[in-house]
Parts: sequence; structure tokens; C-alpha cells
Amino acid sequence: MNLSGTVYRPPYEAQSFLLQVTHGCSHNKCTFCSMYPDVRFSVCPMEEIREDLEEAARICPHVKRVFLEHGDAFVLSAERLLEIAAEIHKYLPEVKTIAMYASIQNIAHKTDEELRMLKEAGIGGLDIGVESGLDEALAYMNKGHTAKEAEQQLLRLQAAGITYSFNIILGSAGADLWKENAETTAALLNKVQPSLLFTGTLHAEKGCQLHEDMKSGAFKECTIGQLLDEQELLLNLLDLNDTVYFGSHPSNLVPMQAYLPKHKKEMIRYVKETRRQLKGHLDEFPVRGSEGSILNR
Ligand code: SF4
Repeated sequence: MNLSGTVYRPPYEAQSFLLQVTHGCSHNKCTFCSMYPDVRFSVCPMEEIREDLEEAARICPHVKRVFLEHGDAFVLSAERLLEIAAEIHKYLPEVKTIAMYASIQNIAHKTDEELRMLKEAGIGGLDIGVESGLDEALAYMNKGHTAKEAEQQLLRLQAAGITYSFNIILGSAGADLWKENAETTAALLNKVQPSLLFTGTLHAEKGCQLHEDMKSGAFKECTIGQLLDEQELLLNLLDLNDTVYFGSHPSNLVPMQAYLPKHKKEMIRYVKETRRQLKGHLDEFPVRGSEGSILNR
């Protein structure tokens, strides 16, 4: 297999076959990200992709789902993605879904017709770091999209029938704007009605801009109490019809997997219960371990 560098994938892609089609991330500028600091973005040659698929056909011929690596494989042109999808179906005929990380800009660069063709080719389950519905937070994080652009592109994706995970980062607007972050993010989610909502909580590894800004005080991190307040407000404001809530990332104070709207009340109760349990720590900043896990809880 030609997988190179650190390989990232969403937790729910654990059973998927990972196929490298790009190296690094074409954007590579998010202030909180330390995934591909030294990787120059490039596109894998088709020959290399075919070699991997030949190998996959020998070792896991019955695989049902493929996840394309690396950071934003949906940046590839529709033409290239359709070529890759055709090869996947040739070598792995039982594959139903071809998933990958995608950005809002990646969607914007494709026409409605291309999106429909990609859906027909089995592309779905895109994992999209929308992160927030608040423009100030998006600008600080250097995401390269506004909340309005996210709304427009996600609605286009939905119209084409392509499923996706809407990823948010709790605490991403910092201590002064946690309330606005919850309000605007809930409003965006309510408009686009994603089938999957993935939550993580802001944390920074050494080497990224956010880490520097937290150290210098240029970015004011939320306290444990503010993170819980933000999450509770967000949940209260959500008006989702049928969404899987995937919140088990180690960075989260309140790890939860649930369905919305079915479990909304229990989820809010769980946040309140966590606040009671952490009574003595609410004014503290989270102390982080590996993968952003919170140690002072
Ligand atoms: S788009 Fe994703 S991989 Fe690329 S810099 Fe931002 S967070 Fe990192």
C-alpha cells in the first residue's frame, strides 16, 4: 500500500479501506490544525492508485466502503474523482460508498451537474469541517469560508443527494463569544439539517498558530464552565429533524452518541449533570492530554 505520513480518518471510518489519492491538505492554513505541517500538497498518480486497488482486491475483496486520503481529497476535480470511483468499483465491486474529507471551498468548485454525477458514482459520507456558524470564529480559524457560504454549499450538496458529516468545534470562538458561537452554529445547523453532527472541542497541539495565540493570550480560551454553557445552549437551540450526534471525541467534556431530536432532553440533562460533577473546576481552563483529552475533569 502507498499510504504515507500520518494517516487520519474519522472514527466511524474504522472499517473502511483507506485509499491514498492526495498527500496533505490543499488549504493547510487552519490556525488550530497540526495535521500536515510539513507535507506539500500533491495528487497521487493514477498508476499508484490502481496498484493499491489491485492489492486491495487481493486482501479485502468484500470491502463495502472506501475512505480517500488525505486532508481534503474532495479538492480533486470531478473528472478525477469519477475516474477514481470507476477504478474502485472495478477492483472492489461490493463498494457502496466512497467517502473523504471535504471543505466548503471544494464543494463550491464543482457544478450542480458534477455533484449529481459524483453522487451517482457512489461518493457520499463527506466529512466537512464547518467548525462554527460565527463569521468571527471562522475568520480567526482561517477556514476560508463564511457561515453563509457554508449554508449555500451544504444545501447544494444536499440537493445532489450527497450525505455528509457537519463537524463543529465547541469553544472555537473563545471566551468572549461562546454564546454567539452557540447561537449562530445552531442556526446554521437548523437550516441545513445534516444527517450527522460530529463535535470536538477546541484544543491546540504545539506547532500551530492557535497554540501560540493561547500561550500569548491573543486567543482567550473558554473555561470548563463556559464550554459546558456553550454546549447546553447549542443543544437547547437545535431544531433538527433526524440527525445522528457523534460527540465521542476525547476532547469533549461530555462524550455522547445520540439521536436528535429523540435524545435532546437526556443530552441536556447529561450536560447539566457534568456541570454538577465538575463544580470545583468550572473556572479552570481544560488541561489537555493526548488527542485533546481533558485531564482536570
Ligand atoms: S482543512 Fe482540515 S486538514 Fe486542512 S488545514 Fe484545515 S483542518 Fe487541517
